[in-house]
Amino acid sequence: MQLLDGKKAAQAIKEDLTQKTTQLTNAGKPRPHLAAILVGNDGASETYVASKVKTCAEIGFESTLKRLPATVTEDELLQEIEALNKNEEVNGILVQLPLPKHISESKVIQAIHPSKDVDGFHPVSVGNMVSGAPTFIPATPYGILLLLQHYNIETKGKHAVVIGRSHIVGTPMSILLSRNSYPGNCTVTICHSATKNLKELCLQADIIVAALGRAEFVSADMVKEGAVVIDVGITRVADASKKSGFSLKGDVKFDEVAPRCSYITPVPGGVGPMTIAGLLMNTYNAYLKKHS
Ligand code: NAD
Repeated sequence: MQLLDGKKAAQAIKEDLTQKTTQLTNAGKPRPHLAAILVGNDGASETYVASKVKTCAEIGFESTLKRLPATVTEDELLQEIEALNKNEEVNGILVQLPLPKHISESKVIQAIHPSKDVDGFHPVSVGNMVSGAPTFIPATPYGILLLLQHYNIETKGKHAVVIGRSHIVGTPMSILLSRNSYPGNCTVTICHSATKNLKELCLQADIIVAALGRAEFVSADMVKEGAVVIDVGITRVADASKKSGFSLKGDVKFDEVAPRCSYITPVPGGVGPMTIAGLLMNTYNAYLKKHS
């Protein structure tokens, strides 16, 4: 069994982007610039945004964090997005989800200009992805593709089972793995909460992407010997031994599944850092498109 080390793979991408940013600044050009909007004080969202902003600083990107109270109106948020759309210095915009209930996520997603849609959730980006045109790919599936690439994992002709059909992970992952490219060319089965024979389907999988958000759901008896297992899940589970009061669990029972796998991602340190790497790559690509 080999660990798919997301920290290491993300580090390689960050070093490459750092070099490219240094070349830009040496040539007197502006730096790539990511703007993030955080609404409210959700603990997990705070952590995710902080780590995105911190990583931008690490690699020399500019970043702007706009914090808005949970009571902000939909109109006010849409105005903030419009200002960032018009801001020539900003290359990528992300609005950290989830949003408070009184704000329509789809309206917010559609308000971001497609040329700055580095989360890849805008219908234009999704349409381009489905039709195989160059576009922004949602950061988590993009990060998983980059991880498979980093470790040279063979995907052609493999049976991939994706558990979860969300718009941010499961659905785009299933589309990307079925595309005629590398990583891809898989035969894909997408499973969800109404799937009846999940265990039998998983047992046929050469590659499992677990993205259902249920701690330690995938057990050893669901995994074929030699499978590649990508664990997307991050669930906070109460843990009195931790200072924070919780520990992070993946969707896979790592200890019992790992010995059966050819490759497996750890949680934390697997898909998480790759998601940030995917976002940074999207921001860099948005920059290149604007400046080319
Ligand atoms: P979601 O809740 O939007 O979707 C979960 C999906 O799982 C749904 O499509 C549902 O049909 C399916 N599902 C639920 N129970 C199931 C069951 N028993 N059997 C089969 N399918 C089932 O979640 P999401 O936003 O896609 O996130 C999934 C997990 O990934 C969460 O733990 C989330 O925190 C994590 N996540 C991690 C990263 C990262 O960077 N590592 C990024 C995004 C999401």
